[in-house]
Amino acid sequence: MCAKSAPMKVVSRFLPIDNARDTQVRVCPGAKALARRTLGLAQLLAGRVFSNLWRIGIPNIGAIMMFHEIQDDVIGQLRTGCSPKYLEHLIKYVRSRGAAIVSIDDAIGLLAKRSQKKFIVLTFDDGYRDTLSRALPCLEKLNAPFCVYVPTQALTRTMDAWWLALRQIFKAHDTVEIEAMNRRFECSTLDSKSTALREVCNWIATDFRLKTDLQPTFAKYRISMSEIVNRYFLSVAELRALAKSPLVTIGGHGSSHEALANLPSAAVHEELTQSRDFLEQVVDRAVDHLAYPYGTPLACGPREFTMARQLGFLSAATTESRPFYYYCDPVRLHALPRMDYSADFWTGAGAADCDESSPSLYADVIEPDHNLR
Ligand SMILES: [Zn+2]
Repeated sequence: MCAKSAPMKVVSRFLPIDNARDTQVRVCPGAKALARRTLGLAQLLAGRVFSNLWRIGIPNIGAIMMFHEIQDDVIGQLRTGCSPKYLEHLIKYVRSRGAAIVSIDDAIGLLAKRSQKKFIVLTFDDGYRDTLSRALPCLEKLNAPFCVYVPTQALTRTMDAWWLALRQIFKAHDTVEIEAMNRRFECSTLDSKSTALREVCNWIATDFRLKTDLQPTFAKYRISMSEIVNRYFLSVAELRALAKSPLVTIGGHGSSHEALANLPSAAVHEELTQSRDFLEQVVDRAVDHLAYPYGTPLACGPREFTMARQLGFLSAATTESRPFYYYCDPVRLHALPRMDYSADFWTGAGAADCDESSPSLYADVIEPDHNLR
């Protein structure tokens, strides 16, 4: 789970005109007006130049895409996850636009060289069983490398997968009371269930410690967290099988899937090192990459970025939703941005059903210029 509420549209961080406003011209009023006009013309030209740079796609070099569940019945699962068909179409689309699907290791190499090659990295969070049963067959067919970030308490069946427990409650009941929110949801349709689930998840995302307050609700609705985790997440043996694919990179995702920013430094250190050791034992290879659980500014920040670097991870990903831009934004390998293509859950935009007639769905990654014309 990586909570987010930002829409898929990418907002330009390329702001030459706003920067130029800082220029101070301290001369007589006439000269001031002339200077303002000159500056305005310069701003206009700068805007056109940069707009054209966008149009031919120079600044946007690539992106990391984030997925969660890959499942057949997206609507039935309250619009969470995406279908194998959507995943396949997305990969074919980005390749048709000239972008290569590369491993996270290769992406780090391309970024280090400031290569102009357009690339996409596919990443799957949380170690869902369907990463093995649904995503892997699709990605093997397309020969597309990918990275799977696994929280180790999913493997040991001790993780608090509160988001799946909530989904189970909303799927099963047409009236749901969340005492901690002092809310009662009337939700008899799939759309209203999805909307209610999103509202509760967004409430948790305002402070991830609030998830503890859901325990009385889970008890009331007789939720068995161990049963949920056992049903949805890879076992150790399944992870080992997944990791055998040459297309797969296994990355860390902490042990408990807690928002690291809420933990003392010693606990963060333990989360990152123990989970890495555990994964390396299971898959019998180095675990060099990390994704911060939830990945939002409330869940990870400079302390975690520094610690990930000091612990030797080659990269660490947030959920800051944007592609890479070389020309305005130095790449920080331990605070990598990632764009959520895992669901239409957060936007309600219908993405996960894969409307093949709407390639604009993916255009923000490959050709962000269309917003700026
Ligand atoms: Zn996660």
